[in-house]
Amino acid sequence: PVRVRMAPSPTGSPHVGLVRTALFNWAFARHHGGTFVFRIEDTDKERSTQESYDAILDLMRWLGLDWDEGPEVGGPYAPYRQSERSDLYTDALAKLAASSYTYDCFCTTEEVDARRKATGSKVMGYDGFCRDLDPAQRAAWEAEGRSSVVRFRMPEGSITWQDLVRGEVTFETQYVPDFALCRANGDPLYTLVNPVDDALMRITHVLRGEDLLSSTPRQIPLHAALIELGIGTVMPEFGHLPFVMGEGNKKLSKRDPEAHALAYRDQGFLPEGLLNYLALLGWAIAADRDVFSMEEMVAAFEIGDVNPNPARFDLKKADAINSAQMRLLSVDEITDRALPFLKAAGVVSDPVSDADAQLLEQAMPLVAERINKLAEAVDMLAFLFVDEAAFAVDPADAEKLLNDDGRAVVARAMNRLETLESWSTAAIQDALQAELVDGMGLKPRNAFGPVRVAVTGRRISPPLFESMELLGRERSLRRLQSALG
Ligand code: GLU
Repeated sequence: PVRVRMAPSPTGSPHVGLVRTALFNWAFARHHGGTFVFRIEDTDKERSTQESYDAILDLMRWLGLDWDEGPEVGGPYAPYRQSERSDLYTDALAKLAASSYTYDCFCTTEEVDARRKATGSKVMGYDGFCRDLDPAQRAAWEAEGRSSVVRFRMPEGSITWQDLVRGEVTFETQYVPDFALCRANGDPLYTLVNPVDDALMRITHVLRGEDLLSSTPRQIPLHAALIELGIGTVMPEFGHLPFVMGEGNKKLSKRDPEAHALAYRDQGFLPEGLLNYLALLGWAIAADRDVFSMEEMVAAFEIGDVNPNPARFDLKKADAINSAQMRLLSVDEITDRALPFLKAAGVVSDPVSDADAQLLEQAMPLVAERINKLAEAVDMLAFLFVDEAAFAVDPADAEKLLNDDGRAVVARAMNRLETLESWSTAAIQDALQAELVDGMGLKPRNAFGPVRVAVTGRRISPPLFESMELLGRERSLRRLQSALG
């Protein structure tokens, strides 16, 4: 059975690269009817924070990437936070040492550097000096109180694996030095805990970012040792997902604002919009198709189809995909999903009053097709819900459109509308068309622009005549009047 995992380190604000990795693991698990494990790699105590942990969980919940084992849901290999699993690492370390897979290393960095200079070696990292340490030397260093770390004894030769994304990959182990598994104080490192947990949790496929490619030649022999010791049972297969490049063809980094995954939620992206976009970073459902549902992705996802070449992150494309996903939702769905934004901005009352709910039901059909992100509903609708006393026109739009010419247009519109018999969309439209376009000889844009700014407060609004009908005669006329100053 397929068992995959995502193993984020809770350091800082979660990155879109993390979401892409989570998504591909999740889709792989769902496609194969397997298990998606969520593990928290919080061994680095100084850098891990509760805030980041909470943010990662919020993010996963928002995205709907449900996990079968992990925080909050538990599972047969609990706990799923490395900070709660220290005994398992101590035990694995003791077993590895007892079978000489590891050795104690007393060298200081200065000593290693000095030896490298003396021999002229180009190989970076540790030179294996303590592999076969003379017992007398060891005793002397221990008597001195020198501290030691535990290093894994890398095998000779080369390490080759069939990468699920990249095909055959080989590393010569002369360039992969013996690596430390824990700090001098005994705290286990990523190098140990990640493979030990993958082994204990029976992970069958490790799908992760290409930045971790160079860990794999270390992890394969360590996994072999863990299997030999009965800690693990299966050698996982590995697949490395392509880099995500940002502006200027540099790797998208935590410093890039578009890298922060939760910012998409806060701007009103749909989770399916963000996931659909991130799926395209290395994968395609078909050559001529960009928009798909997660069910479709699950059905079609083959890890072998992932393109190993770097993927370019394109915010405009992300917006366009999100917008396309919005178009697939009904007005009622958009209303439900926009509601938290409208409440948070104070556009509607919380809980929603009957009057607000009724107005929203009438207004949402006008805006649902026009917004690309949920939060845009706030600016589009605020003019309808605002207290008349608090209504204000956007100053920049007023300056452009409510100049002398604009105010003349507004004055004519107001005159005409004051005597309008029925306050309906059609009647308002006919009247303003006759008065401003036919009567004044204005282009529609110049005729209706000033009226729009006066009534809705902005140049971008839901359709004008419908908006005026919803706003009602009294409020519309009052706003036209106040635009005249
Ligand atoms: N905790 C590691 C990271 O966040 C994940 C390593 C892995 O997936 O093997 O980079």
